[in-house]
Amino acid sequence: MAYSYEAPVSQSLFDRASVVTPGGVNSPVRAFNAVGGTPRFMVSGTGPYLTDADGREYVDLVCSWGPMILGHAHPEVIGAVQAAVGRGTSFGTPGEGEVALAEEMVARVEPVEQVRLVSSGTEATMSAIRLARGFTGRAKVVKFAGCYHGHVDALLAAAGSGVATFALPDTPGVTGAQAGDTLVLPYNDLEAVRAAFAAHPGEIACVITEAAAGNMGVVRPVDGFNAGLKELCAAEGALYISDEVMTGFRTSKAGWYGVDGVRPDLMTFGKVMGGGFPAAAFGGRADVMAYLAPAGPVYQAGTLSGNPIATAAGLAQLRLLDDAAYAKVDAVSAELQGLVSGALSKEGVAHHVSTASNMFSVFFTDEPVRNYADAKKQEAFRYTAFFHSMLSQGVYLPPSAFESWFVSTAHDSRAVERIADALPAAARAASEATA
Ligand SMILES: *Cc1c(COP(=O)(O)O)cnc(C)c1O
Repeated sequence: MAYSYEAPVSQSLFDRASVVTPGGVNSPVRAFNAVGGTPRFMVSGTGPYLTDADGREYVDLVCSWGPMILGHAHPEVIGAVQAAVGRGTSFGTPGEGEVALAEEMVARVEPVEQVRLVSSGTEATMSAIRLARGFTGRAKVVKFAGCYHGHVDALLAAAGSGVATFALPDTPGVTGAQAGDTLVLPYNDLEAVRAAFAAHPGEIACVITEAAAGNMGVVRPVDGFNAGLKELCAAEGALYISDEVMTGFRTSKAGWYGVDGVRPDLMTFGKVMGGGFPAAAFGGRADVMAYLAPAGPVYQAGTLSGNPIATAAGLAQLRLLDDAAYAKVDAVSAELQGLVSGALSKEGVAHHVSTASNMFSVFFTDEPVRNYADAKKQEAFRYTAFFHSMLSQGVYLPPSAFESWFVSTAHDSRAVERIADALPAAARAASEATA
């Protein structure tokens, strides 16, 4: 595909990066492999806007993949960070900031009785699974195809359509032994979970699921799915782990738990709670968390866990996220969903806007999408054309058809108008695209 616009400074930075870093990026999706073209190197962000190295401004609909729910460089978050930096950057001792952040999380998310801070969502899910295995004395883990839980070895297994197949590792470097205790099931299929428990009685330590899936595009749990998982886990002596790294403190004040009220045994968090810094967490039932070192026998640690800058940023951001803030994010999201769908309908493009609270994505198909197999049936080539048209008009979308779009409280009417202005041409590009 030919791109009608250029980004020479980003291209030269990408060329330099590709010499010293594999693929030129530090996280694969940033390389634009799914859509082609030059990844934009960003130099600054303010409110709903990003500015790239070529000096072009974009309305940002990625928001750092979720964390920037107040927009970029929010003055109160920046103020909290500057104050914290002035006191020193890391002590390797406990500090008040991490207590305050933990208290805020426990106060907001009722099933979280205790919480342990870590530095990435990957660490959070990895540690939660270790804890679940340590607590139950069982080995097997159930996950769902299309759900992403970070790059934890045991969870990088997504294949295995059909029921209760043992997972093959998704990537070289993950051994059969590391993935062999992982059962991968189709999302939104309780029967498959029931069958897995029947096939492996007393062996399953936990079921881990995205609270609402956002990493195969947005696919919300069908009514009763999360509640059914919880019920099956309780009946079988396994733990129900709700991965809220993406949904936590985004889809409501109490994350997806605040939406569906299904009480997990353990939960994982990241993204929004770090305010744009590396902070993440796992938490839940006090009797389970008591198994964690130094209180209990399951080891887990981190040199920079509870880092004072990261906790200051996260706490400042959470304290600003009141009911009014969520109402605003929800309203902007709903408005954009309508605008996008309207523009695509006008051009006769088959599509389906899929939502989970204020998270949403567009599937280029008429068919309902309930799981990863459904999601993969969409005409992703239409998204590529749509994406590049929007990018050339100054709107930064996720560079893949299988990612959620994110908005913030900073997306005001001017930002929405700029998106609305770009949509007709992008919808036309999507309608004219060929595979
Ligand atoms: C982003 C994400 C992770 C991984 O978090 P990192 O901080 O990137 O390691 C885990 N689970 C879910 C649901 C996520 O969206």
